[in-house]
Amino acid sequence: MTSKQDRPAGTLHVVGTPIGNLGDLSLRAREVLGAVDAIAAEDTRRTRRLLSSIGLKASIIAFHDHNEAERTPALLERLRDGEAIALVSDAGTPLISDPGWRLVRAALADGIEVLSVPGPSAVSAALSVCGLPTDRFVFEGFLPRRRAQRAARLEALRNETRTMVFFESVHRLDATLRQLAEQFGAQREAAIARELTKLHERVYTGSLAEICARLGGGIPLRGEFVVVVAGAHEVLRPEESEALRIFSVLCEDLPPDRAATLCARITGLPRNVVYGLTRKKA
Ligand code: SAM
Repeated sequence: MTSKQDRPAGTLHVVGTPIGNLGDLSLRAREVLGAVDAIAAEDTRRTRRLLSSIGLKASIIAFHDHNEAERTPALLERLRDGEAIALVSDAGTPLISDPGWRLVRAALADGIEVLSVPGPSAVSAALSVCGLPTDRFVFEGFLPRRRAQRAARLEALRNETRTMVFFESVHRLDATLRQLAEQFGAQREAAIARELTKLHERVYTGSLAEICARLGGGIPLRGEFVVVVAGAHEVLRPEESEALRIFSVLCEDLPPDRAATLCARITGLPRNVVYGLTRKKA
């Protein structure tokens, strides 16, 4: 018989669950949730409902923002003893504005295997339907509640050129969008994704001013929202604008690769800088 010390360490499975539509629970998530020794869940009632909707019963441990630090040692102990534990949040992907990173960090530090069971997240769902550039983006989670702190955070983001993703509660949506318009400019393009994957799913697009004007009227202030805001336009230095002009003239007669090489030679800018500029403006 193997003693407790000889048993291999267990596995922590980080499992994504639906953000509204139960049909989005993956086959693998079902298998893992049905096989683990225990499930650490942000909201035990919600997880029990999810499990019963797929005919599963499991041992569920409450694991939320207020008890994460206190519960982590006991969960680590069980993992060290060879148990398989799943971590789920209220909805979506754990750790994305949800508890869990301390547990994952501690498990990794202990040499415990941590496996992902990816699933839905409001971040990727919103980005996939918002119609704004998604090649580079920043996820800002929830903005601070206090106006002054929120203003400071937004000020730090005013010149951010990547698309920005925010979570916002319905109660603060109006104030946040108005503050975004004030600090980023009313004409900045944005989108709000409401009730993703649910019956009343809808994406509203336009300038911040247009979206603000529709709030409470065309845009019902009910449900869950993700706010996506376009990045600021990059201001090019004069030599960069000139390089772009030369590049586009050369492109009239040459393939882009050759045009970039010649442009670099003419302007003295490194070829990768010329390439970077042309990609930004593509
Ligand atoms: N971990 C989750 C995820 O990966 O999607 C996010 C958890 S965070 C506590 C909850 C916030 O996500 C909500 O306040 C809202 O901003 C956003 N959210 C969650 N579900 C949503 C949905 N179905 N439609 C729009 N936004 C949603």
